[in-house]
Amino acid sequence: MRLIPSSEIACKSIGLSPTGSPSAECGLCLFCGRQIDQGDPVLVNPLKVLKRENSFMDDNCFAAPSSDMSCGWCISLMPKEAMFALRSAVVTLDGAYPLFENAHRAWLFMNPPDPPFIAGISEVNAQHLYWRTPPTLDARLISIRYGSRLFLIRRGRLMNAVEACRRAGEILTEASGGKKVIANPYRMLDREISSLSHGLFRDDALQHSIQNPELADILQFLRECNPGEIWALSSLSKTTPVVPVKPDKIQFVKTV
Ligand SMILES: [Zn+2]
Repeated sequence: MRLIPSSEIACKSIGLSPTGSPSAECGLCLFCGRQIDQGDPVLVNPLKVLKRENSFMDDNCFAAPSSDMSCGWCISLMPKEAMFALRSAVVTLDGAYPLFENAHRAWLFMNPPDPPFIAGISEVNAQHLYWRTPPTLDARLISIRYGSRLFLIRRGRLMNAVEACRRAGEILTEASGGKKVIANPYRMLDREISSLSHGLFRDDALQHSIQNPELADILQFLRECNPGEIWALSSLSKTTPVVPVKPDKIQFVKTV
């Protein structure tokens, strides 16, 4: 199987072609590291041409930092309108699907599209997401970029964590004499990861786990989830269970 670079998949998902002039030489794309052959569309000195020499924020993610050219696919993704259209999406060869709603994120995690796909969510309106995110090749391990963070989510573990949270909520509701408590053991699960309480266990969960071995096991299991899996729980572990919904494809109309 030919490994299709992420930028190419992102472009194809919304009908974009590569931008640039035929390359005079072979090389690597500064941004995504893709092999460039003679004649491939490229932009030489891309940061200079794009007038971003002093303002490019994601230079620590360059795949080939010593290269002086970009592939045409990465260049096609640079305009703000393309970045905006894909600011929260999973891109596939079959189309791009939005990931704003929890129900749509639940679809990605519970019924993922056929690989390869790349998932990216911006923290701001327009952010470089796809050229610096490896494609998911096996849906048991989903790579997803959330702004500056690159998460690897073990899907089986995530599904078990959703169930573990639900069971913890049940145990804690019982322990509180039937008083409704949050349906997981966390103080907060924050989709934006801006709260300092994100991913920390509540005091009632910690205290009750001392005398309840089942809850102690659940907390230990959740401690062994990685930051991406805890973040994904923020969309999936809800008092009212989230029903996965496959979103409609993003319709992108190029204006320039
Ligand atoms: Zn590239």
